Amino acid sequence: MKFKYASISSGSCGNCHYINYKDTSLLVDSGLSGKKTQENLNSLNIDPKSINGILITHEHKDHIKGAGILSRRFDLPIYANEKTWSAMEKDLGKINDKNIKIINNNKNFDIKDIQIKSFEINHDAIDPVGYTFFNGKDKIGFITDVGLITDHVKENILGSKLVVLESNHDEEMLKIGPYPYYLKKRVLSKLGHLSNTQAGNFAAELVKAGAKNILLAHLSGENNFPALAFETVKQILFEKGIKVNEDFSMAVLKRQESSCLYEI
Ligand SMILES: [Zn+2]
Ligand SMILES: [Zn+2]
Repeated sequence: MKFKYASISSGSCGNCHYINYKDTSLLVDSGLSGKKTQENLNSLNIDPKSINGILITHEHKDHIKGAGILSRRFDLPIYANEKTWSAMEKDLGKINDKNIKIINNNKNFDIKDIQIKSFEINHDAIDPVGYTFFNGKDKIGFITDVGLITDHVKENILGSKLVVLESNHDEEMLKIGPYPYYLKKRVLSKLGHLSNTQAGNFAAELVKAGAKNILLAHLSGENNFPALAFETVKQILFEKGIKVNEDFSMAVLKRQESSCLYEI
């Protein structure tokens, strides 16, 4: 059996990702409406009733918008650390007590066949995390909404076979683009979002550590283009002697739309 992964949607319009191993299916974040999430899951022939839980990275709306609805509709547990629960609870609506699952950062736990670990990342939320998923053989790494790749992130993510990596903006587009000054400053800060260049530099380390699939995620609608993100990362890798589609494969995850189902 192999890990399966699909993006259900990625970007500030709403983030939701699907991970499956054997009989265990998880969502990471649920930032689309309940209806749109179900539509996109259906397009991949995934039955929402087969999902075992939703893991939340942080409380920003584009990561939690549909979580409460899906939890009530399909009796799904929601997993998040204590501070994130306190920050998002009011936005989720009433959640059944048994579906409120509080997890600890940096501590492995299992949901059926998948071992999960959350770890702190730099972002302007109360206690944001990235995740790794392990099936006893391979690891999937998950890091979006991150202003800076710290040693703590590297310790956790390096060695993953598939990585969902934020490539939010092109720095030049952001600087000359329509965002107000305070927002530009926020996005560019250590607590903001990862640029294409930052993603490229970290992608090189990931490939050297064995990554076979890198999926560029959470692209800005105003300050990036899919082809620009792809080419910027590809060029940085090329300069470091790494060739896309020879040494590993890379793709850009779409906003609002699901990806194909990847098997690793
Ligand atoms: Zn986000
Ligand atoms: Zn965020």
